[in-house]
Amino acid sequence: MKTGLTGSVAESPSKILISACLLGQPVRYDGQSKHVDNATLELWKNEGILVPVCPEVSGGLPVPRPAGEIQGTAADVLTGVAQVTTAKNEDITRFYLCGAQHALSLCLQHNIRIAILKENSPSCGSTTVTDGSFSHKFIPGEGVTTRMLRQNGIRVFSENEISEAKTYFDSSAETNT
Ligand code: SF4
Repeated sequence: MKTGLTGSVAESPSKILISACLLGQPVRYDGQSKHVDNATLELWKNEGILVPVCPEVSGGLPVPRPAGEIQGTAADVLTGVAQVTTAKNEDITRFYLCGAQHALSLCLQHNIRIAILKENSPSCGSTTVTDGSFSHKFIPGEGVTTRMLRQNGIRVFSENEISEAKTYFDSSAETNT
């Protein structure tokens, strides 16, 4: 934001992309949220720093919706080698790609370099995701949105790493001042 008085330029406070379900928005496949009660998140929310997104909803899927799981890796989904399917083997990859692209667009629009996304999700997972068998099992991996953001230089943390995210966010802010 330009001060207009001194001619100096101060960057607008950085923002953080966050999974909407972590803020209590009922956007999950089952119509529920995954609200996280955390003082840092509450502070950031009150400061207007958080930019919520649900990639699956912005990608065109309804609430509620059939659960999707990655059949392979998120990296392979982005290159067209693997798909995201429902338990009935319906290919819903296009919605996940569209949602990931929308999340990236938000990051570019707001100059966002950090995201806090819901663990285990085929869109938002950052260290584990469902294993593709629709049996509530998890394997190491990442969601489609997470992979796309990381490929574009955005640091992705889970809701279990909010203190680490704060350290990174604060150090980034100091670097920019
Ligand atoms: Fe939450 Fe991400 Fe799933 Fe949307 S896609 S409900 S934001 S975990």
